[in-house]
Amino acid sequence: MPATETKVKSAYEVALEEFDAAADALELENDLRAMIRFPEKVLEVSVPVRMDNGQVTAFQGYRVQYNTSRGPGKGGIRYHPAVTVDKIKALALWMTLKCAVVNIPFGGAKGGVTCNPKEMSPNEIERLTRRYAASILPLIGPAQDIPAPDVYTNPQVMAWIMDTYSMTTGFVVPGVVTGKPLSLGGSLGRNEATGRGVFYTIECACDHLRLPLKGARVVVQGFGNAGSCAAHLLDTNQAYVIAVSDSRGCVYNEDGLDIPKLMLHKEKTGSVANFHGSEALSPEELLSLPCDILIPAALENTINGDNASSVKARIIAEAANGPVTPEADKILEAKGTFVIPDILCNAGGVTVSYFEWVQDAQHLFWEAQDVYGRLEHVMKKSFQEVLRMQAERKVSMRTAADMLGLSRVAEATRLRGLYP
Ligand code: NAD
Repeated sequence: MPATETKVKSAYEVALEEFDAAADALELENDLRAMIRFPEKVLEVSVPVRMDNGQVTAFQGYRVQYNTSRGPGKGGIRYHPAVTVDKIKALALWMTLKCAVVNIPFGGAKGGVTCNPKEMSPNEIERLTRRYAASILPLIGPAQDIPAPDVYTNPQVMAWIMDTYSMTTGFVVPGVVTGKPLSLGGSLGRNEATGRGVFYTIECACDHLRLPLKGARVVVQGFGNAGSCAAHLLDTNQAYVIAVSDSRGCVYNEDGLDIPKLMLHKEKTGSVANFHGSEALSPEELLSLPCDILIPAALENTINGDNASSVKARIIAEAANGPVTPEADKILEAKGTFVIPDILCNAGGVTVSYFEWVQDAQHLFWEAQDVYGRLEHVMKKSFQEVLRMQAERKVSMRTAADMLGLSRVAEATRLRGLYP
């Protein structure tokens, strides 16, 4: 490696670095730190699938339960070519802290399969899902570990997992997954919950910084579930969403994109590219546009040591998990950029997943306005708690969120007396 080239840290190295910073700031005792720092269970499975051409392909799948001191494991399932066991461990650690930051009674988990669903037929994805679900059956269950959608998985995938699980019990078990279709025990408001939660934390950040949301200029990297729902709410509240991207293109209009039309365009064509009335940009140009709010809503390591100095946003709202590296954090902090950290910013999804799990257990379903009202309360209360920690301990918002989450996990671990 040339002397000037810096090694890119894996998501797990980044997650552990953040964990250590929070544990140091809390002066967490060594025994407790050792118990929480490592995953409780890591399951690696081979997922053989008969493809439509008649041949069998064996995919690698994972389910990690990082920590269940505060309740059953909770975390999404990702289908993506870049899935590795290390990435799933990182995401499971972040889930542990995220559930604790918003104070819902879950531990942290995550799952994934290394595959490219964009190149697979719906039948192949169904066979992959059922085989993967069967392989992780020993870990999941409504009282053990509850999966949900993540990148390139959706309510249909959750329905197949629920069905596969229910086949083994002989009766339907809706609470084994969240993010299900409404007709199978899903919750109103779950589909847009992550984006809605992102929106509520942006409202809080704007209030805190005295930056009017009305007329604010917004850029969204990753126009999927989380990114498009956040963009839609911001647009409805009179912010200008001037640029968005997905894995196939970036579109820009300095007067603001027509978000409802862009959502329809993406639904029809599969991408935001070539949207009428927009200019194309490169991914680098998109991230460096002058704007008030930048929402990275795709994957990890998007804003890093190489590009952070060109970011011109006043607020970065981390809809994605792990989109800003620790090197980038330092650069952004020096510039005074206000970062709403992922484990706070995107916690709306898991919060409404919790509401869905509660509704499934009660067999009693809530109106959409009840879901939104409860979500708004949780997100805004959590934002204020993180902000208070940040001000009291004079740390970054990220370390403050990690400290809040970790202190709750540590307290639960200590009270349960899990350590000698
Ligand atoms: P999704 O599959 O609905 O959307 C992902 C989007 O990102 C797609 O539009 C894809 O084209 C785009 N994308 C992928 N690579 C890109 C790139 N290099 N540049 C620009 N765009 C790119 O996934 P999602 O559920 O919206 O998840 C997005 C992020 O939000 C992930 O980091 C996920 O972990 C996080 N998240 C999601 C939820 C949820 O409930 N869906 C909850 C919390 C966090």
